[in-house]
Amino acid sequence: KDKAYMVMVRIRMVGGRMTAEQYGVCDELSRVVGNGTLRITTRQEFQFHGILKQDLAVVIRHLNENLLSTLAACGDVERNVLACPAPIKDKKHEQLNHDALAWASHVAPRASTYWDVWLDGEKIETLPPAGPPLVKQAGEDAVEPILGKTYLPRKFKTAFAFPEDNCTDILANDLGFLAVVEGDSIVGYNVLVGGGLGTTPSAEKTFPALALPMGFAARDEILAVGEAVVRVFRDFGNRSDRKRARIKYLIADWGMPAFRAKVEEYLGRKLVDPKDVHVTDVDDHMGWREQGDGKLYLGIPVQNGRIKDDGPLRLASGLKAFFEKYQTPGRLTCQQKMLLMDLEPAWRDEINAWLEEYGIASVEKVSTVRRWSMACPALPTCGLAVTDAERALPSVIDMLEAELLRQGLENERLTVRMTGCPNGCARPYNADVGLVGRSAKIGPDGLPGPGTYTVFLGGRTIGDRINVEFKDYVPHDQIAFELAPIFARFKAERLDGETFGDFCHRAGVSEPAPAEVGASTE
Ligand code: SF4
Repeated sequence: KDKAYMVMVRIRMVGGRMTAEQYGVCDELSRVVGNGTLRITTRQEFQFHGILKQDLAVVIRHLNENLLSTLAACGDVERNVLACPAPIKDKKHEQLNHDALAWASHVAPRASTYWDVWLDGEKIETLPPAGPPLVKQAGEDAVEPILGKTYLPRKFKTAFAFPEDNCTDILANDLGFLAVVEGDSIVGYNVLVGGGLGTTPSAEKTFPALALPMGFAARDEILAVGEAVVRVFRDFGNRSDRKRARIKYLIADWGMPAFRAKVEEYLGRKLVDPKDVHVTDVDDHMGWREQGDGKLYLGIPVQNGRIKDDGPLRLASGLKAFFEKYQTPGRLTCQQKMLLMDLEPAWRDEINAWLEEYGIASVEKVSTVRRWSMACPALPTCGLAVTDAERALPSVIDMLEAELLRQGLENERLTVRMTGCPNGCARPYNADVGLVGRSAKIGPDGLPGPGTYTVFLGGRTIGDRINVEFKDYVPHDQIAFELAPIFARFKAERLDGETFGDFCHRAGVSEPAPAEVGASTE
């Protein structure tokens, strides 16, 4: 008997942008051929789960016919390019989104293979046409101009961000363009390289890393500079050990001066030093906000990015009805949330009523710790997962909410991020509290349950510091218990204005002293 195969399908959505029609297409596909849910990933895209192999071709064709694409959403290529999704109608936001789209087009694969395999050779452009064409070689197949004959050693991720709004977690990316703004315009970008959070705990040669500043590029130079970075990675990235095939290891092995010199060699000129511009804050764009053109946008929380109907919460039905009625665009955030944009101020009351009707919590009704939490899908849909994450985090947050409330810390902004394995897809290693799946617990039904987690502390909500291990093999229902003494110390010992992550970093929080354990949990 033939095996039945089920796959995950991920869409490339630069900057998380979509029209109302495109949302409708995704909603329909999720209901007809998926598992009835849509998932907003931490890279501003939708994933479908539960697609049967025999439906794959029709799904990909339908997506492309609606100017969505799966091309380069996975694989050893440039992945979905991140950009601030806030639909603010000012010059710098428009420039940032323009530059992100231009870069995504420039570095996208050119070969027709994707269209040959999935669309019978019918080419549908889903990005603005740009970038160099295929390189013809005598007697050989044409070669990708940037990706070359063999594509990249591994995946490659790029983000664009503003210093005061690191909503794309720019430092967790292989390549980052951090805007340098003068007046109301972006004059260029600090180019950051070498971020990546995936690791293998048993292999000391692997580690999470944040991107480092390499140089400055004016707006009209970013394609050339970014291309030089990709080419250096293509030619010198490790192709014999997949665990060390990210650009961060190249930089760790060579040092930044040598890496920069090699990029300059590929570029054909020296780079300008980076400007004194750094990440200073983050905004998740939740709630009602002004767009700057007289219209409003509304950021709505989506727990762990899962759009589904679940009892009184009818998020899938609600969003379907919303986009059908208003026909306005939407955007996805890197915190797995949804922005509804181009809303007339006069619609505000009826949209608030729509939230109530479908049981969708506005941001005011969500606790701060839940608002700033996220999880990867993990079990049962990710083949690499060793524990639950998406299914386990809500109950962990329930317990953290209760503990934080008990200690009067319910308004503290702290990121709690959980993954089902050390690959780090939900970026746990720069969070205030990182929870990484360690070992599965087999339930009475013989299936793995939530399991145990490694708890990391001391990252930062703005994403510019790697956290450190606090405790290993913590069962998911003990996480709040283990953190309670640390919350108590934070409350008692924090400096003026100090955040939880900064406190853990300063105080060097590790194993709590025995007297402290349980002291604040009764
Ligand atoms: Fe899967 Fe691990 Fe990524 Fe989670 S972090 S989605 S378990 S690979």
